[in-house]
Amino acid sequence: MFKKNEERKGLLFVVSGPSGVGKGTVIKELMQRDPLLCLSISMTSRSRRPNEVDGKDYFFVSESEFLEHIEKDNLLEWAKVHGNYYGTPKDYVLKKLSENNDVILEIDTRGASKIKSLYPDAILIFIVPPRWCDLRLRLETRSSENFDEIKRRLSRSIEEIEEYFIYDYIIVNNSVIEAASELECIIVAQRARRERREDIISKLRSEIQFGQEVI
Ligand code: 5GP
Repeated sequence: MFKKNEERKGLLFVVSGPSGVGKGTVIKELMQRDPLLCLSISMTSRSRRPNEVDGKDYFFVSESEFLEHIEKDNLLEWAKVHGNYYGTPKDYVLKKLSENNDVILEIDTRGASKIKSLYPDAILIFIVPPRWCDLRLRLETRSSENFDEIKRRLSRSIEEIEEYFIYDYIIVNNSVIEAASELECIIVAQRARRERREDIISKLRSEIQFGQEVI
């Protein structure tokens, strides 16, 4: 599905974490610091929360519309999470990567694992809370879910934490600012990897070859 390595230029970052860990807020902070990063907007069949905007937080679609997108192969990956469908629109991500933009996906652990198998170079980051009780507290205080939904999300979180080993990095969300800084550092470090800097080395080498005549 993906183009050959040479044609894929941008980096693909996947951020996951249990429900209520605050990954959305951490990513929002990161996006303010690095507006060149492209955040993929997922599609979901979950109903819209009062504070959410269609096309900004998610593309909200009906379950049958979602199934149609699966059928038409419009999604890079998709998963049923907490009883609803969520998926990554393919065109946006592939276009941004091919234009040399770095892309962030905020998806669950099953989606992350699918992305890793499709795209082994993807960098997977898992955000965890400092304490288990923080998750419950956050889910209860944001009051966007009812009691059964909170229970469902907490039990899914236990499974998600057990999948930590597929991730390259783990960030503890003690504070949004610190967690966003760690995420930013990971991104900066990945951009500076040797294999991404081959072009500057060859440019320097040709300058050296040319310059040798005048040393
Ligand atoms: P929420 O309903 O709280 O917005 O999201 C529930 C879960 O769905 C979160 O773990 C979130 O990361 C995950 N999720 C959001 N978008 C996607 C997506 O496109 N693909 C997958 N696999 N998971 C997603």
